[in-house]
Amino acid sequence: MKAIITGGNRGIGLEIAKNLLSRGYEVHVLSRSGISSPPEGIISWTADVSDFEQTIRIVDKIGTPDVLINNAGIMNAKTASDYCSDEILHMLNVNLISAVRLSVRLAEQMANSSGGRIVSMGSIAGEIGHPDIWYGISKAGIMNAMRSLARTYGPRGVVANSVAPGPVETEMMKNIPEDRKTRLKAATISQRFCSAEEVAATVCWLATDAPTFINGEVIDMNNGTNYR
Ligand code: NDP
Repeated sequence: MKAIITGGNRGIGLEIAKNLLSRGYEVHVLSRSGISSPPEGIISWTADVSDFEQTIRIVDKIGTPDVLINNAGIMNAKTASDYCSDEILHMLNVNLISAVRLSVRLAEQMANSSGGRIVSMGSIAGEIGHPDIWYGISKAGIMNAMRSLARTYGPRGVVANSVAPGPVETEMMKNIPEDRKTRLKAATISQRFCSAEEVAATVCWLATDAPTFINGEVIDMNNGTNYR
């Protein structure tokens, strides 16, 4: 069994890689900086997912996976009025457009073989909005795209879902001011952030054991911050 994870060299993606490895998967990780000494069974590829053609060249070498995890993502410490056109396009390319194009391409391949599963990293930001307006938009978009993929490819054996965590303590949070972090933690039942391992456990359940009737769903992980 083969899995491709975008952005799997640190943070949530690395936890997903380790979890799938422990389940016996051959794990392929795509990121710009790579992993210097990957654990045995994790194959690290250097790729910038905002460059779709480069990404496709690598993915074609790997071959059709059983599992695709769209995890690569960026968030900027910018307000809406700070953004220029290039920055908007870069954000959307990394977090949304490349991920959707990759998903469509691999869903088609999965549907033509024995099916497969796609899980995308959404976010609570895609549901309630975010100070980084384009981050929130990109996350709303990817969660919506999984729904469309589930409808299009579900009848041909492809399962596509999203996980939408609240804040998780990773490098992505380094630009968030401490007072905002304190407020965000205080809004949770457990008075803490979700761990990367907890997110990975949910993503990997959807990618492996979850009933296939769960298709096109968004699994929230915000610990009472935003019950829908
Ligand atoms: P990190 O910043 O720790 O990791 C981001 C990952 O994405 C890295 O592996 C990075 O590798 C990769 N990446 C970024 N840009 C590119 C690119 N252009 N091409 C290839 N890889 C890229 O963040 P997290 O682990 O926290 O985030 C993982 C996902 O979870 C993201 O989609 C994020 O939006 C989502 N998420 C995170 C939350 C949080 O609070 N942390 C909450 C909700 C969702 P490299 O830089 O080497 O390319």
